[in-house]
Amino acid sequence: MSGATIYALGTPVPSRAHPGAISVIRLSGPRAGDALLALTRKDALPAPRRMVLRAVVDPLSGETIDRGLVVWFAAESSETGEPMAELHLHGGRAVVGAALDALARLGFCRLAEPGEFTRRAFEHGKLDLTEAEAIADLVAAETGAQRRQALQQMDGALYRLYEDWRGKGVRALAHLEAAIDFPDEDLPDGLADEVRSVIGRLQSEIDHHLADRRGERLRDGLSIAIIGPPNAGKSSLLNLLARRDAAIVSETAGTTRDVIEVHLDLGGWPVILADTAGLRVTQDAIEQEGVRRARVRAAAADLRLLVLDATVDWKREWQSLIATTDGWDSLKDIVVVNKVDRAKVVSDEVVQLSANTSTGLPELLKRLEQAASTLMQEGAGVAPLTRARHREALVDCQASLGRALAAPEVALAAEDLRLALRALGRITGAVQIDELLDVIFRDFCIGK
Ligand code: GDP
Repeated sequence: MSGATIYALGTPVPSRAHPGAISVIRLSGPRAGDALLALTRKDALPAPRRMVLRAVVDPLSGETIDRGLVVWFAAESSETGEPMAELHLHGGRAVVGAALDALARLGFCRLAEPGEFTRRAFEHGKLDLTEAEAIADLVAAETGAQRRQALQQMDGALYRLYEDWRGKGVRALAHLEAAIDFPDEDLPDGLADEVRSVIGRLQSEIDHHLADRRGERLRDGLSIAIIGPPNAGKSSLLNLLARRDAAIVSETAGTTRDVIEVHLDLGGWPVILADTAGLRVTQDAIEQEGVRRARVRAAAADLRLLVLDATVDWKREWQSLIATTDGWDSLKDIVVVNKVDRAKVVSDEVVQLSANTSTGLPELLKRLEQAASTLMQEGAGVAPLTRARHREALVDCQASLGRALAAPEVALAAEDLRLALRALGRITGAVQIDELLDVIFRDFCIGK
């Protein structure tokens, strides 16, 4: 057993305004048991995985810090794969402060870095990188659908998918290497064809996986851009949906100069709604920048809410909006004609709304939820791609597979196939790269 013994508060830091009912301090590493013995003034550890009530004392002064539940885990059955201990104390600032101080003064433990517990679990083979990332996603999940996706990944759904692909590739590579190492042996006929067809099948499965963006949308939130001419009521609509005054609503045209975002839970689906500057030609430099950002945003959004003004010639505005953005797409765009309290609108194509009186809001929410579920619904049993990191590795993998198929010699094909497998291995951590690990675990909170 190597490495330092680390400790951290696993629950939020208690403040005067928000003390916790309990706070949990976790320890992991070869001397976790010694630390527990010193803080409880005992000669023997409790039975593993059994909570016991103990006085927690300052090992130097002997003063009692708190009385709480402590638990001990042997390396074989701990989360990190190392000896672990937990102190469940009262969640007061003084209690937690004194316990952390006492641990620091023991001299043989140190405070954990962000994500260090999970990183140790990975290093001891308790989980792969996709499962570790799923823990971070689960902690960050804001809606039920995000939570379900993170749990599926934490159960190894992506790990199994990527390792299955890698396993197939490894077998194909073994065939190629046999052909290189034993050129005179009688290798089975049609070997090259078989390797080709394995690579071809891998390519099409990976292509399919890459084309499906539902998992990333669900993890990151579906981006919806509210666009439309100035004064149509875009900010009012955002405020109505967000039920708080996130954007400035004003009578002067062109006040929303930047992109304002709000995160919403739309029937369990995570949505990032962005209010953009009114799309119009303007001389004002700041406003021009706003319009430029609005266009970029509108082009990149998963879904667009076109907001038009019922009191003006909205059909004409719709046409000119289509002309200034990249067209209109019935799957990507929902058209809202606002201010129907002021002017009557007759049309089945659009959602009729009054941001002032909330008329039409239920219909708009229904349309938004339908669109969100179509764009993010989990496929039956198929684990979707969830992260840009995985996407990049898979794109690399595809490029190498393509080169392997086109290679003029077996040795070159084998080298490209090896690169493809390395790219796949980077996703699960089967191929370890230290800088990569630093980046992944840095995003965790301390105590995870
Ligand atoms: P934006 O420039 O598109 O963001 O438009 P705003 O949300 O700032 O609204 C422009 C003006 O239209 C404001 O004076 C709003 O009070 C008004 N407005 C917005 N929605 C409605 C509506 O449904 N009915 C009426 N009568 N006025 C509205």
